[in-house]
Amino acid sequence: MKSVIFLAPPLGGKGTFSDYLIHHCGFTQISTGDLLRSEAEHNEELKAFLSTGAFVDDETILQIVEKELSKISLSTPIILDGIPRTLQQAKKLDIILSGLKRDVVVIYIDVDKKILLDRLLGRRICMKCHRSYNIYIDEFKPKVSMLCDDCHETLVQRDDDNLESYEVRYAKFLESTMPVVAYYQEKGCLTVLQNNDVDQTSALKSLLEVIDDNKK
Ligand code: ADP
Repeated sequence: MKSVIFLAPPLGGKGTFSDYLIHHCGFTQISTGDLLRSEAEHNEELKAFLSTGAFVDDETILQIVEKELSKISLSTPIILDGIPRTLQQAKKLDIILSGLKRDVVVIYIDVDKKILLDRLLGRRICMKCHRSYNIYIDEFKPKVSMLCDDCHETLVQRDDDNLESYEVRYAKFLESTMPVVAYYQEKGCLTVLQNNDVDQTSALKSLLEVIDDNKK
C-alpha cells in the first residue's frame, strides 16, 4: 500500500479523512500540527508562535518528520498530514521518502474559501486523541456536548482557530503550498479531491477509490 500525502487549505478536511484511513484502512498518521501542539504543551514560546499561524522553519520540521518516519515499519502505510508545506520541504521530503523506499500518492483536497470560513469557528478538538468536531454542523457534533466521543475528554478550541490567524494560515497556504500542489501535478502523482459538501460521503468515496487504485 502506498503512503498518502494530504495537501489542503487549513480546515480542508485532512483530519477527518486521516481519521477514517487510520480507523478503517490500517494507516498510521504523522501530523506535524499535532506533533507541534503536543510539544507546545510544555513550551510556552512555541505555543505563542503557533497561535500566530506562521510556519516553523523547514529544517526543524523535516528533522521531526524524519525521526517519526524512522519509527514506523515499512509495512505500515503512513499519512503525512501537514507536510510538505513549502517547495523546499517537498523536495527534501522526496529524498527522505525515496531513501526509505516509501512510495506515495499525493491527494490535494480542494475546498472553497467561503466553506472553510464557515467551518472555522465551530471546530473543537480533543487534545488527547486529536479527533476534531464541529459544534455547528450536525454530522460533526460530539454525542455529548463538548466531550470527545472516544475518550470523553473536554473538547477545546485551538488557539489558532480565530479569523486573524486563519487569514495568515490561508495566505501562507496560497503562497507556499499551492506551488507544492503544482510541483506534484507536474510529477504526475497528484489526485484532486473536491470537498465542498457538508456531507463528506461522496468525497470519502472518491478517497477510498484512490486508496484502492494505489494498493500494490
Ligand atoms: P491546519 O490544520 O491549520 O492546516 P496544522 O495543525 O497542520 O494546521 O498546523 C498548525 C501549525 O503548525 C501551522 O500553522 C504551523 O505554524 C505549524 N506547522 C505545521 N506543519 C508545518 C510545516 N510542515 N512547516 C512549517 N510549519 C508547520
